[in-house]
Amino acid sequence: MNCLFCKIAQKEIPAKIIYEDEKILVFYDLNPQAPVHILIITKKHIPHLLELKKEDAEIIGYLHGKIPEISKKLNLEERGFRLVSNCKEEAGQSVFHLHFHLLGGRRFNWPPG
Ligand code: 5GP
Ligand code: ZN
Repeated sequence: MNCLFCKIAQKEIPAKIIYEDEKILVFYDLNPQAPVHILIITKKHIPHLLELKKEDAEIIGYLHGKIPEISKKLNLEERGFRLVSNCKEEAGQSVFHLHFHLLGGRRFNWPPG
């Protein structure tokens, strides 16, 4: 499949990997928007949140369940972080393989603008 994040998951394209197991991959964003900016992806190709199926509940729960471990590894447990998933182009999605941005190490405004 001609998908950038599938290629990263299959090691066809290199990335700076932070964590990996059979279900998810976590790596640094190429164009960081914060001192810490990582991407958490499912290894399964799911285009975005609107494409989630009933059977994906387990993998989505699993991914979120890994966030405490990942954020602690990046020393974000004291200051906290922001988790974002852009769904479709108007929201800012540019890679159509489900991913969660985890951003930390600076203050973020709300509303995001
Ligand atoms: P989106 O815009 O779809 O929410 O997020 C896609 C993210 O992927 C962007 O933050 C962008 O910087 C990042 N990105 C795009 N191409 C690559 C790449 O080849 N490697 C890595 N590590 N990140 C990428
Ligand atoms: Zn993909």
